[in-house]
Amino acid sequence: MNQVASCPFCDIARASKCERIVNENEHAFVIKDGYPVTIGHSLIILKRHVGSFFDTTQEEKLSVLELLDQTKAAIDIEHNPDAYNMGINDGAAAGQTVPHLHIHLIPRYEEQDKDPKGGVRWVIPGKADYWSKQ
Ligand code: 5GP
Ligand code: ZN
Repeated sequence: MNQVASCPFCDIARASKCERIVNENEHAFVIKDGYPVTIGHSLIILKRHVGSFFDTTQEEKLSVLELLDQTKAAIDIEHNPDAYNMGINDGAAAGQTVPHLHIHLIPRYEEQDKDPKGGVRWVIPGKADYWSKQ
């Protein structure tokens, strides 16, 4: 399965019946993020050790997107959030810290953040706010 010894996500993929895996399919699995930014923050992770989404096969992409949908449905039931951010840090220069493809699925709660405007644009804080400059 092309796994890497020092990779925390390969460790999880290797462990049989790992209790951190909450869902899986042929090419991907889901865990709760170990350092969640909101309640329910989950990671959809490719089983194969590949850094970039753009280096995955069409089959792998479908597996990952299938689990994205299923995880959203599960979080809706468990936590009833108001919205979601989804994101991939694709490459170290984009902020990726674990070089093994994963999608962040981050539920958002109105009561916890009164001013979420801009969402993922805040990856570049100085450029996020375009609306007050219009
Ligand atoms: P990245 O910066 O690569 O986009 O995100 C890595 C994510 O993996 C972070 O959100 C971090 O909290 C999470 N993470 C790193 N190591 C572990 C781990 O051992 N277990 C779990 N559950 N999450 C991890
Ligand atoms: Zn890995």
